[in-house]
Amino acid sequence: MTGTKRTIEQTHEDLKEKNISARELAQEYLDTIEKTESEIDAFLSVEGEKALTAADKIDEKIQSGQEISVLAGIPYAVKDVICVQGMGATGGSKVLENYVAPYNATVIERLNTHNAICIGKTNCDEFAMGGSTENSGYKVTKNPHDSTRVPGGSSGGSAAAVAAGQALFSLGTDTGGSIRQPAAFCGVVGLKPTYGAVSRYGLMAMSSSLDQAGPFGNSVRDVAHIFAATAGADDKDGSSGSAKTHTVESMELDRDIKGLKIGLPKEYFGKELDGAMEKSIREVVAKFEQLGATVQEVSLPSLADALAVYYIIQPAEVSSNMARYDGMRYGKKVAGDDLIATYMETRKEFLGDEVKRRIMVGTHALSSGYYDAYYKQAQNARAAIRDEFKKVYEQVDVLVGPTTPTTAFKIGEKVEDPIQMYLADIYTVAQNVAGVPAISVPCGTVGENGRSPLPVGLQIIGKWFDEPTVLRVAHQFEQAV
Ligand code: GLN
Repeated sequence: MTGTKRTIEQTHEDLKEKNISARELAQEYLDTIEKTESEIDAFLSVEGEKALTAADKIDEKIQSGQEISVLAGIPYAVKDVICVQGMGATGGSKVLENYVAPYNATVIERLNTHNAICIGKTNCDEFAMGGSTENSGYKVTKNPHDSTRVPGGSSGGSAAAVAAGQALFSLGTDTGGSIRQPAAFCGVVGLKPTYGAVSRYGLMAMSSSLDQAGPFGNSVRDVAHIFAATAGADDKDGSSGSAKTHTVESMELDRDIKGLKIGLPKEYFGKELDGAMEKSIREVVAKFEQLGATVQEVSLPSLADALAVYYIIQPAEVSSNMARYDGMRYGKKVAGDDLIATYMETRKEFLGDEVKRRIMVGTHALSSGYYDAYYKQAQNARAAIRDEFKKVYEQVDVLVGPTTPTTAFKIGEKVEDPIQMYLADIYTVAQNVAGVPAISVPCGTVGENGRSPLPVGLQIIGKWFDEPTVLRVAHQFEQAV
């Protein structure tokens, strides 16, 4: 059940030309939600009245002849780990069931200055831990291309909402693939910016050295608009100090890619890659040569360690970040006989299995006697992975490969087997470990045994803070296919 595909620029023209009013536009998306939500389950809350009131203000501006931003009146959805003032923010967790965010994340503040309209908060794996939305404390989102399959995760609700036409764009977070993998599974574009390129202020911290917010959209140009509107240093996030500011014009998406050097990491074509997907990815890579780029095989041997490194560092940071959900500060509480009992009962009752699993793994990896063997080793391997990216970027401008080893899997297929679920991240985690930007762009579909074709995502990985090249290569590719 995939929906209409508006683009930001065309919709902006339609608003300015008064072909549609902002209220009609918001209503169109709210109607689609109304019609499709029982099948898709992308949203945890929908804010129809607020959206329509905001739309009326845009219409007044248009009627009185005022200039409006290209994002003004554009309806978007937000992953529920990102705070929007006055709206629910559960993070997909029962522990925050009735929590209402008292302030805006910086990404939301920035979209507000452009008068984009948030129409609701989307489902996700609990505190963004997972790859299918099956770890949500509330419900499982369905893939709009096949409702028996997962939309990917953890930002599955945000990806599905765009694919189903329930929002024109959306925001997600990506700690190990949670924007790119659901984008690939749902057939939309998803960008994970460089670590630090977009402020993390107002995101529920899961793994602070890996987390990054970014957009989903129907086109690379749409995603470029959202990146440009949200990127840049923020006093409230110390890790955003080197962030650059951009405009869509300054990123020169229409400039050709003649002479650009593209590397295909051979580690991204291993035996875990589905045969039909490998064939389709190798075919589309030929497009880059037709566009005048050169394509060469490269190797980053440490990529083989990336998943292991990620699943030490990530839970270690989770174990400390989750400590704040103790029944005392936010959300729900089960009162015990004393303080410790209250902590324990609250966490036992309201945190899900995957969150508990990671708290235990992470606490173990950081504990005395194991710290050197696990955490420190993982940090050393992290440095090696970063160095290999640095080295390979002396030879090539971007890297290209599949976003995921398979297309969207069945609901229930992996949820009982965490290792199988973790393996779904094999091509996405290294980019977070190194901090480099990467995008997933739809590049066709594959079907097998007569089943309906499912989307495949092509991943384009760039140098630190070189989103303009990543977006330009992605845009040129998108135009060519
Ligand atoms: N699927 C990965 C995990 O479970 C990535 C999650 C994410 O990027 N938020 O940790």
